Amino acid sequence: MSRLEPLLIDQSVKGRRGVGIPKSPVSQPLGHLIPEKFLRKKKPHLPEVTEFQVVRHFTRLSQLNFSIDTHFYPLGSCTMKYNPKLNEAMAGLPGLKNIHPLAPDVVSQGMLEILYNLEQWLIRVTGFDAFTLQPAAGAHGELTGIFLAQAYHRARGNKKSVVLIPDSAHGTNPASAALAGFKVVQVKSQSDGHIDLSDYRQKLTDEVALIMITLPNTLGIFEGQIETITREAHAKGALVYLDGANFNALAGLVRPGDLGFDICHINLHKTFSTPHGGGGPGAGPVGVKKELEPFLPVPRVLKEKEKFVMRDSKHQFPQSIGQMRSFFGSTGVLLRAYTYMVTLGEDGVKEMSRRAIINANFIRVRLSKIFKVAANEPCMHEAVFSGVPALKNGTKTLDIAKRLLDYGYYAPTVYFPLIVPECLMIEPTETETPETLEAFCTTIEKIAREIETDPEMVKHAPHTTPVQRLDEVQAAREPVLKWPSWNSAFNTFYEEKTQKSQGPQK
Ligand SMILES: *Cc1c(COP(=O)(O)O)cnc(C)c1O
Repeated sequence: MSRLEPLLIDQSVKGRRGVGIPKSPVSQPLGHLIPEKFLRKKKPHLPEVTEFQVVRHFTRLSQLNFSIDTHFYPLGSCTMKYNPKLNEAMAGLPGLKNIHPLAPDVVSQGMLEILYNLEQWLIRVTGFDAFTLQPAAGAHGELTGIFLAQAYHRARGNKKSVVLIPDSAHGTNPASAALAGFKVVQVKSQSDGHIDLSDYRQKLTDEVALIMITLPNTLGIFEGQIETITREAHAKGALVYLDGANFNALAGLVRPGDLGFDICHINLHKTFSTPHGGGGPGAGPVGVKKELEPFLPVPRVLKEKEKFVMRDSKHQFPQSIGQMRSFFGSTGVLLRAYTYMVTLGEDGVKEMSRRAIINANFIRVRLSKIFKVAANEPCMHEAVFSGVPALKNGTKTLDIAKRLLDYGYYAPTVYFPLIVPECLMIEPTETETPETLEAFCTTIEKIAREIETDPEMVKHAPHTTPVQRLDEVQAAREPVLKWPSWNSAFNTFYEEKTQKSQGPQK
């Protein structure tokens, strides 16, 4: 499959048509009805191709992708797990898919009931008192949660301007806090990956409004000191936020609400199996304890006299932070997640987390002979390594990641978290079989041997993908966005590539 797919515009033949528009029955052209300044002077430069060419083009492009339906996808911190097709069928039911968000409550009872039940489900499994389903992603949930903390402190007349965040946090945490206008202060981790309590105590001043903790943390381990951390925060009048994006390590096993957290978001598109990445919609519901409930975004779905109602009135929720997103959130994602929960049941969710943990520990133990495990204790849903022991002859972790593509594996997350040198972060998820995990580990061992015997080959991998090594930063540093310069930039790139790798024909 080592060929580049030509652009549709390059397949264009003058006069070729995919669809025909019937001749207008109106004899006079309608052009005169449109003001002159809006009329095109020249025909648009569009590809002239058949419908079949378009279908083949996009089908071929779709097959160049690695996807969860075609490959093992061990992307750390992202939870790329299999999405049962049942979820798609349920989210696509016409009665749910076609419902208008402004339809009156009486005709939306089914959807409102599902949203209400989903909130109740999340309340039970997390131990919080109330939820909003509105946020459209994890980072959006963080921003919502931070606004909630801000509103809570304002209502009490507290003037607190600092958010504490450990150095191992996901980059979205400090970004969200800064966006909400807080000053971010970093808390150090110890070499074993746990929070440095003495550094935490020193930074926990009266200025601190919120502490954001990722659990399991980005080394994939449980923070055993969490109850001490939340207790001491509360003693100083600060709230504690859980970045629960990776809830698949905890769901059914531990309730964050019981650990002292006041606010949390969870990523339904990760833990509850919606396909994500590539900018598709997500859902980052936010749960809170009782004292924060009055500040939740509107609209809220309530149950009144056995009917489900949507309420957004300022009278009923005078302290609400307002609306974070249109209507109720990404309902397509919410429906998939709800289907997944209902399919598994509460015992099934517990089993899901257990298997995610067992699979990650399989990888941790199996690869500890090749890499250095970042934290010296059992991991939760993902295993984090330093690639250093395997890297010889001038190779880097990046080369291992690229070489994996040749063997049909999507590459794990690399160089994150930043505190681990030459890092690899592998999250197998519970949906993979032991055979897949074994085959993956055997492949890593094979690459480690190649590093000794043929390092140049590893350094120039991948060899079997449509394009080989790309300049990873050029597209960001020198973006070429405008047609036709984009087209000529592509052609130059395309010609270079076709000359280098034998075979591809334009
Ligand atoms: C994925 C992730 C996020 C961000 O979630 P998005 O839905 O991508 O915005 C935040 N924190 C952690 C720990 C994550 O893994």
